[in-house]
Amino acid sequence: MPRRHPETSTVEHLVIVGNGMAGHRLVEALLARPERPARITVIGAETAPAYNRILLSPLLAGEMQREALTLRSAEWYAEQDIELILGERVEAIDRDARTLTTDAGRTLDYDRLVLATGSNPARPPVPGLELPGVHVFRDLHDADALARAAAQGGSAVVIGGGLLGLEAAEGLRKRGQGKRGMQVSLLQRDDRLMNRQLDLTAARLLESELRGRGLDIHTDAQLESLEAGSDGRVCAARLADGTRLAADCVVVAIGIVPNTALARAAELDTQRGVIVDEWLTTSDPAIHALGECCEHRGNLYGLVEPIWRQVEVLADCLCGKPSTGYVEAPTATKLKVSGVALYAFGPTEPEPDHEVLSYRDPQQGDYRRLLLRGGRLEGAVLYGDTASGPWYFEQALAGVDLTACRTALLLGAADAQVLLDDALNESPQRPAKEAA
Ligand SMILES: Cc1cc2nc3c(=O)[nH]c(=O)nc-3n(C[C@H](O)[C@H](O)[C@H](O)COP(=O)(O)OP(=O)(O)OC[C@H]3O[C@@H](n4cnc5c(N)ncnc54)[C@H](O)[C@@H]3O)c2cc1C
Repeated sequence: MPRRHPETSTVEHLVIVGNGMAGHRLVEALLARPERPARITVIGAETAPAYNRILLSPLLAGEMQREALTLRSAEWYAEQDIELILGERVEAIDRDARTLTTDAGRTLDYDRLVLATGSNPARPPVPGLELPGVHVFRDLHDADALARAAAQGGSAVVIGGGLLGLEAAEGLRKRGQGKRGMQVSLLQRDDRLMNRQLDLTAARLLESELRGRGLDIHTDAQLESLEAGSDGRVCAARLADGTRLAADCVVVAIGIVPNTALARAAELDTQRGVIVDEWLTTSDPAIHALGECCEHRGNLYGLVEPIWRQVEVLADCLCGKPSTGYVEAPTATKLKVSGVALYAFGPTEPEPDHEVLSYRDPQQGDYRRLLLRGGRLEGAVLYGDTASGPWYFEQALAGVDLTACRTALLLGAADAQVLLDDALNESPQRPAKEAA
């Protein structure tokens, strides 16, 4: 049932903190609504206007040019009559006065404030993390620094075998190719790569593909410390089992931590992220939060799909339009390593009442595993041919009973859909549906 956000006063001046992917998408969504706030100001700590952070991986791999990442130029913001302040970090919010202050000493007032401050890379508590040569992979500066390191050649150690770690490792390896060459090792604490998305079979296929390309992969690897060379820079990674890996460059990619510093300083309710309700409203009705900095019903965010849905809800809310509010929905994962096709959603391991269907073609390098409960799809892992991934995901989201097309389910969307359509045509409910 659509409802209205309790703070119904017209938003005269909206200030958005963070010109990242969520903050920028919100601007676009507001511009598409005639009821948009009269005045919009965006403040971003980065010096570049919003860019597609997702494409930092192909940028690092040398598969894309920097210009292709820009979402909108500073001129575009000016043309839309939006004040864009870049290279300034908001340091404090005075909630009583409804003002905020930046690190450049600028003070701004607001009627409504949106925190879109993203997240920071998580750092493992190991000695040596502060050494020169230890990087994270979050923004354009990081991508530049990593590209420079790859051009120097030598050896790199990437810590983290999730999406980001794999993309960083492949990016470094590819970027280093043809120059001095970079030997890249990847450390994964779990027994498999992408353990949150893949079952063991798919993870092993991925591992073997990446090893074949020259990546040195260590699973079940526990980082103990990073060592400094005589020049004070990082020179090696030491593992708990005594292994020592040479490292002229280290990339830490073990996860993200919501950036809640500003919200905490303003005494908004926070746990792991800034707590929001279904309208993306914080504990202060004049302040919202969205994207990777927020926490909704215990959930945190690290992919853009749910963030795009948050943006639509918040845009309606800021324009005084009723909405059903933000609701959680499952998301699917893809890996952006060229030449590797992967698509996954749902649980990685079957539960006792799951029916498991799987298909493997070692010659083609294809693998599919589906988890069904009561004829309905709850999870899928696809490696190789992933063309049917979005169809499987759609069926799972819609809760379609796939019993009628079970025999063709592993063959892919086209064959399965034919059987589903046939079953629907034969269904006694058909005339009733048509009549409706
Ligand atoms: C290399 C890489 C690859 C990725 N690949 C994928 C992918 O394939 N698919 C996917 O769905 N997601 C991917 N992601 C994740 C995706 O980029 C994020 O989910 C998305 O960027 C989150 O948007 P956000 O606006 O919340 O945070 P961000 O995009 O990080 O934006 C936050 C912005 O706020 C600014 N800021 C913070 N504090 C302040 C302050 N106090 N004052 C002013 N400004 C401030 C920051 O500088 C930053 O610019 C990837 C991320 C990375 C790093």
